[in-house]
This record gives sequence, structure tokens and C-alpha cells, in this order.
Amino acid sequence: MYAEEVAEMAGRIRDEDIALVRERTSIDEVISDTVTLKSAGGGNLKGLCPFHDEKSPSFNVSPARNVWYCFGCGAGGDAIKFLMDAEHLSFVESVERLAARAGLQLRYVEDDRSAPRARPQQGQRQRLVAAHAAAVEFYRAQLTTAGARAAREFLAQRGFDRAAAERYGCGFAPDAWDLLTKHLRQQGFTHDELVTAGLSRPSRSGSLIDRFRRRLLWPIRDLTGDVIGFGARKLFDDDDGPKYLNTPETPIYKKSHVLYGIDQAKREIAKQGKVVVVEGYTDVMACHLAGVPTAVATCGTAFGTDHIGVLRRLLMDTDAVAGEIIFTFDGDAAGQKAALRAFEDDQRFVGRTFIAVSPDNMDPCELRLAKGDLAVRDLVARREPLVDFALRHMINRYDLDTVDGRVEAMRRAAPLVAKIKDREKRPEYVRKLAGDLGMEIEPVQRAVLAAANGQPAGAAAAPARHAPAAPNVDSPRSMVEREALKLALQEPVLAGPMFDAVEAAEYRHPVHAALRAAIAAAGGAATATGGAVWIEQVRDACDDLAGQALVGELAVEPLRIDGEPDPRYVSITMARLQWGSVTGRIKDLKSKIQRINPVSNKDEYFALFGELLSLEQHARALREQAAGGL
Ligand SMILES: [Zn+2]
Repeated sequence: MYAEEVAEMAGRIRDEDIALVRERTSIDEVISDTVTLKSAGGGNLKGLCPFHDEKSPSFNVSPARNVWYCFGCGAGGDAIKFLMDAEHLSFVESVERLAARAGLQLRYVEDDRSAPRARPQQGQRQRLVAAHAAAVEFYRAQLTTAGARAAREFLAQRGFDRAAAERYGCGFAPDAWDLLTKHLRQQGFTHDELVTAGLSRPSRSGSLIDRFRRRLLWPIRDLTGDVIGFGARKLFDDDDGPKYLNTPETPIYKKSHVLYGIDQAKREIAKQGKVVVVEGYTDVMACHLAGVPTAVATCGTAFGTDHIGVLRRLLMDTDAVAGEIIFTFDGDAAGQKAALRAFEDDQRFVGRTFIAVSPDNMDPCELRLAKGDLAVRDLVARREPLVDFALRHMINRYDLDTVDGRVEAMRRAAPLVAKIKDREKRPEYVRKLAGDLGMEIEPVQRAVLAAANGQPAGAAAAPARHAPAAPNVDSPRSMVEREALKLALQEPVLAGPMFDAVEAAEYRHPVHAALRAAIAAAGGAATATGGAVWIEQVRDACDDLAGQALVGELAVEPLRIDGEPDPRYVSITMARLQWGSVTGRIKDLKSKIQRINPVSNKDEYFALFGELLSLEQHARALREQAAGGL
């Protein structure tokens, strides 16, 4: 294909000019525009191949011989071939690009087998890029006109002076239908070229009009610095278009690949081994100006796999060389969702992905305006690993002050930890998760293991009291609750006063708690004289069928004591009942205390600590009582 195309197309550019372009082109510089190269020894360079997916670099460049070759996929060639493959250019387009880069004027030969051409046929890409370059100049000049006051004010209000606007080539699309279109037509661009470039579009009447009107414009550049499209911000209330408009998909503008600011940021991204992904044009500007030169933004689309590909080659993200990708989010739900989605995206990338959530929901542009350059640099410096962020976000949705909340949070978080591809990192995250939840490590470990083995997390992790509507008669807790209720129903005279003193809240199972409430509604166990009448009274006071059935059951079930019950047995039973709930409350408190920062929340910390001490004292007393001493 390559050879055929050379034979066919080379006739249009003089052979000696093509040879000169090859000679004057430094292949490593051309490739470095899109692939970060490191020394491979012997004067050769290597990097991650842009033509196949790989983790360690097998893409080699020999500047001395002016060739590149990939040992992974077998692709290879000269600088012209590289541009053709990497940027999907034609042979002529690639030669033209390299000639422009080297400052060479190409001469074209007439091909007498085809129709004579009035002017040299440039490649399409070159024409579209040239149209954009002319459009940038046009829009830039418009920014200084009286009609562009709103655009200048928009920039000034966000802390961008004239120098900043110039550095980013900001422009203004005037309040006119076809000023740009006419301007570019006069410069020799055809109707088709302007439509294909996305700069103009046919109106309903059929005439050609400008795509952007009355908007502030940012030129969007590719890695090499060529302008390939525009981002356009709405300025006026009566503009009923969307807040941001972008160039549509064109042969040179692919939004899934485009990263705003990449041309200015790429050297620092490669040098620092990190990239900061922000959400808008003004955020990129604010970051660069604030001393975060590695910032880029997607243009009118979410960050996706193709963007990762572009960045990985710049970061030379391999197992040996780890690049960092930092997302900034303003902390709103959309941003957090995006972060969680990033979790699903590319597992190889997850370990190197960080999240920086700005304080007070400010984006970097607002942050710089409100708190200065240092605050923007701080935001990036305070980044948090994606996994940590995702876990924290997940468990924050639950009330960690209750056992239920902690168990549910653990169930939800365990599959995330199980998903961490780097198995050696899992124990670290299990410990961290246990700490954040205020739980022991062991149940968390079990839950993660179960999730990793594809079992529902609850199977291994759910404690007995998390169970089901029907009381689990085997659980010690449930058993003691039943025993207390049996005493109240069967031995109200003996057990009544002690039973009534323990509130319904101490009963964990809902049906047990309902029955305890029904006994209170029937006048309390202490007032009862016992027998069938008392059982009927309680049954009548019971609202639900499950409770009524349980009354009948517990009225006849034998007590778990040999011989007749005595006050000691009642006391022990009631102590054990309360002890369970007290130890549960102690566990909750300890967990809460663990999650409090004793330095910044000193008062709360000591208050909870005091509460804990008195509860523990109460628990000790109950334990003694349960052990048999009255
Ligand atoms: Zn390859």
C-alpha cells in the first residue's frame, strides 16, 4: 500500500524535494510530538508503540539511520511513514507537514497523465489546518473590537489578562452571519473545505454561514500545535444555544482524542510524568498560569479510553515507569460519578489515577480567582488515590454510627477492594477500609475474599442479627430475648417488675420488640396475675399476626432452666439481655471514636470517651449480674 501510494503520489512532489525533506527531518523530534522517547542505549531511543497496546516499550527509533521499528507489532518506516500511520495522513500530506516543519518550499511536477492543475494539490489535512490558522487570526483580531466587550469582560472576570488571552489565542466570533466565511473564501478556501473543516455550515436558504456567532472562542490544537477546531462559550442571555459549542467531528477533529492544552502541556507531562485533567478551557488556562503546567481538558465529551491512549504514550506509562493521572473535580455528584466510572475504565491505569477534589466545590479557575495560584497548586498536591476516593465516597453514603450502616458499607465496598488488580495492594486496602469503617480487620477481609471469589459479599460477612424476618432461635441474642418474653408471659408475678424495667429498645429483633411493646400496652407484666387471661390480653394488644403467633408459641415453650424459675434466673436473663445491647452500643461508640480526629474534634472526642467509660462500667455490672450475683 505504502509503495503504491509513493509511486502514485510522488509524481506530484519532486523526488529531490522528498529526499531533501527526509534529510532535513529529525525523526526523533517528529515522533517525540506524540510518543515520549527514552534512551535505549547505542544512540537509539524507545517508547510505547502508538500502533499496538503494550506495557513495556518495544517501539524503537534510530535517529542515526532515520528509521523507526516496533519489535512488538512489526510496524516501521521513516518519518513520512510515521506521520501517515500515526496521524492518518496521506503521503503528500505527510511530506507537506514535514516540509513546513523544516522550512522547505516544495515544488510540484505536473502529471501529464491526469488533468493539468491550476495550483499544486495540497493534502486535505493541510488545507483544513490552514483554514483554521486563518480563522484563528480572524477571531483574534475580532476580540479587540467594540462588539467583543462581553468576551473581554468574561476573560477579565476570570482573572485572565490580555497576555493570557493572547497566549491561548482566544478570539471572538462577531455578531454577523458570514463574516468569517467571506473572509476565508477571499483567501481561496472552497465552500467544501469550509464545511468539511466545521468552520462554516449551509444555512436554510442554502448560502454558507459561520458556525460560531457571538461567542468567545478557544482554538483547540493537536499535539503538534496545529489548530484543528474551536471551543465556543456563550456570552449573551438571548443566545439560546448550549453554554459550550465545539467543532463537530471532522477529518482532523476527533473529540474522543482531543485534549485541550495538550500542545502547551506535553513537554511538562513527559518531564514530570504526570498529567492533570480538568473540566474546561478556563481551568486549563488557570492551572497553567498558576504553575500547574501539566493541565489538559477534554472538549465536549467525557474522558475516555482514547484519551488514556494519548496520555499513556506521553507518560510512557509502563510497569517500570509509572505516570500519574490526576483528575480534578469540583466535588459535585457528576464529578464523583465520573471518578467512579474511571474506576471501571482501564484497570491498568487505576493504580496511577488520582482525584483532587477542590474545597467548596470550586473549579481550578474559581479557586485561583478566590484564593490565588498557591491554592491551585495545593489542590493538585493534595490528590488522593482513585481507589481511596472511590471507597471513601462509597462508605460515606452509610451511617457509620450504626452497626447496620457499617455492615452495609462494608458489603458495598468489599467488591471494589476485590477488584483491585494489584493483589499485593489488597491487604493494605483491607486495613484501610477496616479503619475507615471502625471495624475489625477480619470481617472486612472475609467480605473482600468472598467478593473476589464471586460470592455475594453478605454470605461471608453478615452477622447473625442481620438476618431475616423470622427470629433466628439459634442465635444467643435471640434466645435471651425469647427467654425474657417467656418469663413475662408465663411468670408475670415473678418476672414482672424486672421485665418492665427493660425497655423495648433493648430487644434487637423487630418481632421481639413488638411483643415487648404489646406487653406494655396490655398494662405491663408487673400488673398481671398470669394465666390464660393475661396471654389473651397480650395477644389482643399485638398489632401484627407474627406477634400474635409468637405469643401463643412463647406461652407454652418450656423455659431453659431445670426446675422452677427464681428471681436469680430472671435477673440473670434480664442482665444478659441488656448486656448484649450495651456491648453493641459500646462497639458503635468505639467505632465512632476511632473515626474522630482527637486533635481537631477534641470536645466531641472527650464527650464520646466519657460516654464509653460509663457504658463499660454498666456492662461490667451487667456481666456480674448475668454471672449470677444479684
Ligand atoms: Zn507496535
